Amino acid sequence: MSIPENIQQLKKELPKNVSLIAVSKTKPAADLKDAYGAGQREFGENKIQEMAEKWAQLPKDISWHMIGHVQSNKVKYMAEFVSLIHGVDSLKLLQEIDNQAKKYHRVIDCLLQIKIAEEDTKFGLSTTDASNLLKSETFRSLQNIRVVGLMGMATFTSDQTQIKQEFGFLKSYFDMLKNSETANFKPTVLSMGMSQDYALAIQSGSNMVRIGSKIFGERE
Ligand SMILES: *Cc1c(COP(=O)(O)O)cnc(C)c1O
Repeated sequence: MSIPENIQQLKKELPKNVSLIAVSKTKPAADLKDAYGAGQREFGENKIQEMAEKWAQLPKDISWHMIGHVQSNKVKYMAEFVSLIHGVDSLKLLQEIDNQAKKYHRVIDCLLQIKIAEEDTKFGLSTTDASNLLKSETFRSLQNIRVVGLMGMATFTSDQTQIKQEFGFLKSYFDMLKNSETANFKPTVLSMGMSQDYALAIQSGSNMVRIGSKIFGERE
């Protein structure tokens, strides 16, 4: 199936409250244009430089999602335009995002990435560290960032029970946090689910899925 057909198929399939982020990393701008032609406006990239290049080339009504691991020294290259940073895993990184956002008089929305997978290769905070971060004075003083929810990636496994358990764990933590809103913490987004596991993620309460290969085909 073509990229526009894949988008249309997914849009039909996803519940109304679930946003679709089209993960276009490694794919050429022409592929993003095809998806754009099918009405897709939210794209996810995992490298800041690649995202900035695509942002420069493509229509300005696209929302750009940074879904990869973010290095502090590169935040400046996306601060002008990024719409949501999914992979925030430290207070130091939030401080740098806040700093750069100020320069553009913006408030940048972020998600805290929580480690739910068993693999060491996956980034993220423990729930204890996330709760401590959210409670800290330093976090509360940041005026140019807003934490709007959580992101998580399940273990890469065919064991559906394990995946469900990991997503369920993140959903419970998300629900628990809902009562602890502050000025810059407004948890409404739960970003979980990729091509292989988005159906399970939605069953578990996700309201934002990040789908790449199912739209654009396998990556090199
Ligand atoms: C690559 C990537 C995705 C999309 O993966 P697919 O399996 O191609 O759907 C989603 N989330 C993150 C964080 C990724 O790096």
